[in-house]
Amino acid sequence: VPTMGALHAGHLSLVRRAKADCAFTVVSIFVNPAQFGPGEDLSRYPRPLAQDKRLLKNSVIDLLFCPSAGTMYPQDFSVYVEEGVLSKGLCGQLRPSHFKGVCTVVVKLFNIVLPDRAYFGQKDYQQVKVIERMVRDLNFNISIKTVPIVRETSGLAMSSRNAYLNNEERRKALVLFSSLQYAKDCVAHGARKPGVIAAGMRRIISAIPGVKIDYIEICDADTLVPVDKIKGTVVIALAIFVGKIRLIDNIILKTTP
Ligand code: AMP
Repeated sequence: VPTMGALHAGHLSLVRRAKADCAFTVVSIFVNPAQFGPGEDLSRYPRPLAQDKRLLKNSVIDLLFCPSAGTMYPQDFSVYVEEGVLSKGLCGQLRPSHFKGVCTVVVKLFNIVLPDRAYFGQKDYQQVKVIERMVRDLNFNISIKTVPIVRETSGLAMSSRNAYLNNEERRKALVLFSSLQYAKDCVAHGARKPGVIAAGMRRIISAIPGVKIDYIEICDADTLVPVDKIKGTVVIALAIFVGKIRLIDNIILKTTP
């Protein structure tokens, strides 16, 4: 179970799934510098290691792996892993080297831990798709398991970055979930035009002062290519800025023909 720490109930649901499936569960905590772009929040990313250890004590895992950045990336580190298609849209547009950093650290963790299964959250839907493709294309003998999004009772998807939000920003951040619920309702009532649904989501989000949209995309759930009509299984994914804090969320919708 690879994580960047600042553990919350979302991470712990991955741990629970792993423990239920596996004889030996390894959790890693590593804030991976390679996946942060210039000007992103690497230096202030929360690192409450003592609290994380306490949380994991309750879950009774077999091994906690917390390498240092220097161990993972010696000064002359020079080999990276890059996925060339699925990582380019959605979050890849604003964060062009993000998934290269993710793939590289995940490969390193796979090679260190040699797991049979690895657990990732649907919260980072594009990440799961990129990792699945990497595992397929580079012949890793590892089964990738996706765990549903854990939300607060308000609907806000749990995220380590929620810790940056003050009370007012937290209220504003609920628009992620409410706009996705709106989209879900539209589809349930027969709407099939992505442009119309996305425009409705844009209207809802734009009504909140201090919130800026990075992207709203309605894509084929496997290829991550934007669809021109909603059919089969689609993912509706979005990223917004609440003040300076960038938050993401998504929903998967299955339609019957
Ligand atoms: P992170 O520490 O943010 O890199 O996340 C580590 C893993 O936990 C990733 O696979 C995330 O997708 C997953 N994760 C983060 N938040 C949630 C959530 N709210 N529900 C389910 N999984 C999550």
